[in-house]
Amino acid sequence: MRSATDATLIHNGQVIDGTGAPAIPDGCVLIESGIIRYVGPLRTVPPGSESAVRLNANGGTIMPGLVEAHFHATYFNVAALEDLDIKYPVEYVTLLAACNARLVLECGYTSARSGGSLFNIDVWLKKAIENDLVIGPRLATSGREICGAGGLMDWNPEFRKIGMEGLILLVNGADEARKAVRKLVKDGVEWVKTYPTGDAAAADSNDHHTLCMTFEEMHAVVQTAHNHGMKVTGHCRATAGIKNALLAGYDAIEHGTFMDDETLELLLKRNVPVVPALYFEMMSIERGPEFGMSQAVIDGHQETLDGGAESARRILAAGGRLGMGGDYGFAWNPHGDYAKELSFFVNYVGLKPLDVIKCATQTGAEILGREHELGTLAVGKLGDVLVVDGDVLADISILQDRKRLIAVLQSGIVKSRCGVSCLSGDAVVS
Ligand SMILES: [Zn+2]
Repeated sequence: MRSATDATLIHNGQVIDGTGAPAIPDGCVLIESGIIRYVGPLRTVPPGSESAVRLNANGGTIMPGLVEAHFHATYFNVAALEDLDIKYPVEYVTLLAACNARLVLECGYTSARSGGSLFNIDVWLKKAIENDLVIGPRLATSGREICGAGGLMDWNPEFRKIGMEGLILLVNGADEARKAVRKLVKDGVEWVKTYPTGDAAAADSNDHHTLCMTFEEMHAVVQTAHNHGMKVTGHCRATAGIKNALLAGYDAIEHGTFMDDETLELLLKRNVPVVPALYFEMMSIERGPEFGMSQAVIDGHQETLDGGAESARRILAAGGRLGMGGDYGFAWNPHGDYAKELSFFVNYVGLKPLDVIKCATQTGAEILGREHELGTLAVGKLGDVLVVDGDVLADISILQDRKRLIAVLQSGIVKSRCGVSCLSGDAVVS
């Protein structure tokens, strides 16, 4: 990804650095050659910054670019399970993924961690973004996901004579789990996404209290993935599934819904980050009836919402780490709504805006494994900055309004202004 060659001084706003520290009033950020050189009050900005291009925050907020920690680039207007795998050909899904990547950047997210992708599209999407062919977030990829046969993601009935090759690698036993990870090694993914548990969406046979993989399968996934330098995460709702994941050596937990004291203790001991992705549950409850969800499914989402909110509060209060990401791409939870997750965690879960921003920036970068270069505004880090028209600490919902995102920068280059991307043509193809 290209870097700015000139200097930019972003000024006239409060600076939120992403560490959870209080905002710096009348602060500024100086970026030179794509790298942050100064963060602090404007009155002590180092000499030489007079020649920098000035970017006015209009009295609003200067903060790190957000990190969407559970991004499905290939999901698009999903209203039924089949929409995830066989609705469109892979060629069209690839184009949709590029559109989603642009959108997530326009929404202020300069980085994203994939939560699973159809075929190997996110790996190639990342390559296109890194080569400036399309604009989008810095991506951590995961490609196809792994689930036990008969589990949550194995929904095509036998009579259809089709498997789940494009979306899911179905496994029976530890050997097949190892084989599936080895396929992903060749694909070049960074995160192996698995399905240790079911979900409220599959109320009949794989609900949120059902296990979809055995401990042996999960352990085989971790051993094989770690051997090849890959990390492992999983869709974990049921308590036993979360516990299995932590004992098997998972590097992150998606959802972490039903957590008892013992599981929480294990989580904290290993300091494993959790991405709750809870606004999806709220939307499933509110809009489920118009999409034909049964009462059993909606009740399951309510139970998930209540359990997940309680777990998220406990994790953060106990010093654990939460990432912000949200399974966007469903018909009732569309791409573009990413920042609604942040408002939801302030208004519904009851977290402080500064804490939620830390989750969505610093912790997000930690989940990506790139905390040394992303996630906070600090000298020496990449100039990935979000400039917002307004005080996001007084009203975090401002982040939902793309028109109020004055500028989104990656490595000091303005990629989007007021929610509209700035496309550039001098890409280098490699
Ligand atoms: Zn997901």
